[in-house]
Amino acid sequence: MSILLGAIADDFTGATDLANNLVRAGMRCVQLIGVPQGEVDLGEADAVVVALKSRTCPVEQAVADSLAALDWLQACGARQFFFKYCSTFDSTDAGNIGPVADALLERLRVTQTERLLATESERPGGSQTVMVPAFPANGRSVYQGHLFVGDRLLNDSGMQHHPLTPMTDADLVRVLGRQTPHPVGLAARPVLARGGAATRVHLEALAAEGVRHVICDSLDEHDLETLAEAVVDYPLVTGGSGLGQALPEQYRRRGWLTEVAEPGRLASASGSALVLSGSCSRATLRQVAHFLEHHPLGQRGGFALDPLELAEGEAHLEAALAFARAGLAEGGPVLVYASADPERVKAAQQALGVARAGELVEQALGRLANTLVDEGVGRLIVAGGESSGAVVSALGLRQLRIGDQIDPGVPWTQAPVEGREAPLSLALKSGNFGGEDFFTRAFAVLARLTGDEVLG
Ligand code: ADP
Repeated sequence: MSILLGAIADDFTGATDLANNLVRAGMRCVQLIGVPQGEVDLGEADAVVVALKSRTCPVEQAVADSLAALDWLQACGARQFFFKYCSTFDSTDAGNIGPVADALLERLRVTQTERLLATESERPGGSQTVMVPAFPANGRSVYQGHLFVGDRLLNDSGMQHHPLTPMTDADLVRVLGRQTPHPVGLAARPVLARGGAATRVHLEALAAEGVRHVICDSLDEHDLETLAEAVVDYPLVTGGSGLGQALPEQYRRRGWLTEVAEPGRLASASGSALVLSGSCSRATLRQVAHFLEHHPLGQRGGFALDPLELAEGEAHLEAALAFARAGLAEGGPVLVYASADPERVKAAQQALGVARAGELVEQALGRLANTLVDEGVGRLIVAGGESSGAVVSALGLRQLRIGDQIDPGVPWTQAPVEGREAPLSLALKSGNFGGEDFFTRAFAVLARLTGDEVLG
């Protein structure tokens, strides 16, 4: 068993986002949920993405989980490793991007030293990694180390209000500097403009000065191609899914990847359609509003979950379940959402604490998914990275098959579910991804992909 790329994603939507871009670039890719405990059939996979829920957990756990994933991927013979995080660099000042990148780099350096003793010549980039969060297809770019979402700096993009990882500083050199004791450098656009070889020379010069982490500018796909060329030999790269889309071409140029694989065709979809939303990101708030606006019942077309009511006992969750059952019986799609504007999120967090408010919502979404999939939901959209982690874990899914994308960064996927004959069709949507009509259009896209009847 030997794969080219082994990726470790810090959340589940991020994992499908990366897997989607690798598939679109012609790689055969398997997405695993968590580090596998037993035997796994990877088939002919060129790339494996291990989805973790390590973005907001305590640093020690994030590091331990990421190292366990690395060990497993190393045992699969991966040539290059990819630490995938959000294109908006979601993290707290305590971590987890810096500490995880440091730990992965250190583990790989030790492995490389062991190999060196046993003959191999040194690979470049062994003591350094790049940080490439940009995802131009979704409006995320980096200039002079500053992250932009569309035409706004990160700290003015709505991300400053994120319930768990508020991003209040767009200067990534500074942000990462708070998460690692090691020096952080910059590969700025003027360097990239000189091409892949010149960028590599710049990275090597930084490495000679002891710079471990290099924040990389990228404005467009071309910059990502340049960076991919510069770091194709690095044992470890880190970033968003944009870099993932650029790497396969470099593997082809090296002769490591010989085929351009087509995305796998999804099986026929069956069962009713449900949307669970735990994301409070701006794009999701617009998608919730759009869904309700176009629902015949207006605001009563979706059920608003309130963490304060969830904290009171079971009644609120029971009401959500009853609402969903009634809507699904009428043909759906049904929306249950905790998504709320920053004021309401703040009020819940002040009353319950940040972690408890998030946990209550995530547990509720997990329980709703579990019960309703048991009762016949077969097409499920989950909005929110942490929220998707909670739902996928509650459903006990182990492996996702990646289909075509609905919008950049969000593919339809399918997973076997115990007790169900047909696979569950699942779309895990990162908070800020997707067009305004995503919650309705996605089901139409699924019907087109699988040749099934359009719902609703
Ligand atoms: P995104 O992809 O937009 O970042 P996530 O699901 O990763 O979304 O994060 C949103 C977090 O906010 C989750 O932990 C969720 O439980 C929490 N959350 C959702 N709704 C509320 C709310 N109304 N009040 C407080 N926290 C909330």
